[in-house]
Amino acid sequence: MSGRLRDSHTIVAHDAYDGKHYGAVHTPIYDTSLFAFPTVADMDRADGDAGSFVYSRGNNPTVRALEARLAELEGGEDARCFATGMGAISAAVLASVRAGDHIVCVDQAYGPARRFIGDYLRRFGIEADFADGADLASIEAAYRPNTKLLYLESPTSLFFELQDLRACAASARARGIRTIVDNTWASPIFQRPLELGVDLVVHSLTKYVGGHSDALGGVVVGSAAAIAELSRQELVLLGAVMLPQTAALLHRGLRTLPLRMERHQAGGLAVAAYLESLPFVDRVHFPGLAAHPQHGLARAQMRGFGGLLSFEAGADRERLARFVDVLRCFRIGFSWGGYESLVSLQEGGRGTPRRRVPVVRLHVGLESPDDLIGDLAQAFRAAGFGRASDSRADDGRVDDDRANGGDRQEGEEEGE
Ligand SMILES: *Cc1c(COP(=O)(O)O)cnc(C)c1O
Repeated sequence: MSGRLRDSHTIVAHDAYDGKHYGAVHTPIYDTSLFAFPTVADMDRADGDAGSFVYSRGNNPTVRALEARLAELEGGEDARCFATGMGAISAAVLASVRAGDHIVCVDQAYGPARRFIGDYLRRFGIEADFADGADLASIEAAYRPNTKLLYLESPTSLFFELQDLRACAASARARGIRTIVDNTWASPIFQRPLELGVDLVVHSLTKYVGGHSDALGGVVVGSAAAIAELSRQELVLLGAVMLPQTAALLHRGLRTLPLRMERHQAGGLAVAAYLESLPFVDRVHFPGLAAHPQHGLARAQMRGFGGLLSFEAGADRERLARFVDVLRCFRIGFSWGGYESLVSLQEGGRGTPRRRVPVVRLHVGLESPDDLIGDLAQAFRAAGFGRASDSRADDGRVDDDRANGGDRQEGEEEGE
């Protein structure tokens, strides 16, 4: 859809404004709500041009610089940033439907996006059905004559199920249905859905792009026409725009995104392989593992893997909570994508009939993978996993791990 893509490492190192701003190498923060004009004629001219700087709820140079970089990374013609990922998602969805329309959404989509699509929009006469994203037939069976939007998230962020993006986009396009995909997990470094035929890409920039757990943001990327329409309507009318101060922080995060993604990928692969080797771990959900049922598809449509994964180890939630509580490198919290490893104990439903199971989700940060694996090993031991009394075979492998330094020092001050 765009011209030639530069390599992502090169894109993030160069600003659109090179040569301006006294030679500043990082786009300065235009900390201003409005832009003033010397004459009425100048103001009239600017007001008639959607790309000009008149008022920061519409365009701000600091935010536009970030948008240009994100559009280039995704291979899109243009992008618009929002105050949060949900600001971007709700704007992109609202830009795609009107009263009387129908949406098909993948079943495992991010919870608030699912609620917005399935519950909130009902008050405006917009209905939705949810489909198994791993199965194109399930998606196609959900289409109705008034379906206008197929909402995707690949991989999803608890069980890491993929959709075949090329096939989904082709199936929707043949019926005049727009597609949106949440690409937060893979980041633009590892997946470019526009190249696969998807119409709009959305991200929570709060996660990998920001990368430092200090800012919230979202983006919508797509064709110039689609983004111009969204700018005229949802961006300006709903007004959930990104602040220039935030754009500068996120742009700084973007500088190291390709490097950080390589590190998250290496750590994610190491932690997933370790978990997979444990006899008491029932399932590891990570598309980077050869055993993942969609590993082939993952390799075909992504260039790499993020560092967010999950696993199941029995149905005893209290025991899993004990395990989580004694982790030291993984801090308990939602969100992910920052430098620091995180853990959360969630409950998810999958399969038919739907089985609700406790799921431990890990965000593998930028720490040493050996230290993280050592931490997991000591926490498994402390929570009693792998003992002879464990329902699964105890073949001694749990103590045969890479857990150097993993012994828990009782009474040690956590100090975090
Ligand atoms: C966090 C998240 C969002 C929402 O982003 P916010 O910035 O928190 O609004 C959307 N999609 C996914 C997959 C997320 O993890």
